[in-house]
Amino acid sequence: MATNHLQVGVLALQGAFESHIKTFETMGIEAIPVRSTQDLERVHKIVIPGGESTAIQMLLESSSLRQPLSERLSHGMPVFGTCAGMIVLSKVILDGREDQSPLNAIDIVVRRNAFGRQIDSFESEINVKGLTEPFPAVFIRAPIVEAVGDDVEVYAKVDDQIVLCGNASTLVASFHPELSSDTRIHEIFLSIGE
Ligand code: GLN
Repeated sequence: MATNHLQVGVLALQGAFESHIKTFETMGIEAIPVRSTQDLERVHKIVIPGGESTAIQMLLESSSLRQPLSERLSHGMPVFGTCAGMIVLSKVILDGREDQSPLNAIDIVVRRNAFGRQIDSFESEINVKGLTEPFPAVFIRAPIVEAVGDDVEVYAKVDDQIVLCGNASTLVASFHPELSSDTRIHEIFLSIGE
């Protein structure tokens, strides 16, 4: 079992993990890529990046990370999921692949590839609870949050759709904060569970 959880990790199986590592770097924080159970044992907080949720799930299983990661999450390890990461952490996935079973770290129902379907990707200045200035959010084939449980706090909406929410140990964004040169959402994540 892990003894020394001192680091922030970024799940680095597929997707935009390098941009998260760089964002933490600009904050003066060394984040390590997580690809194995040994890596997972070294971290005390973890990011699940954007990318392709079906691929991330498949790789979680083939790398044998799924079970130990689920266990750590169920014990309250803080986790931040962006876009595909939000889908992987949800409770229910709509328009997912048949064999897509999420980690159930947060009580939300998400629909894949539904947000801004017409334009695929877009940028929007969003108002975030707790931030005084708007945040420049980048959306790429983003999921929609269709329902949230009672223990989920909503931090931001666009066109009446929830795009940022969290519970006691989980933060999920349907956009990509790691692609904006703005670290404020990552700062919110680091304050979780402390
Ligand atoms: N649509 C992708 C999925 O279902 C997520 C897109 C993203 O992470 N930018 O996994």
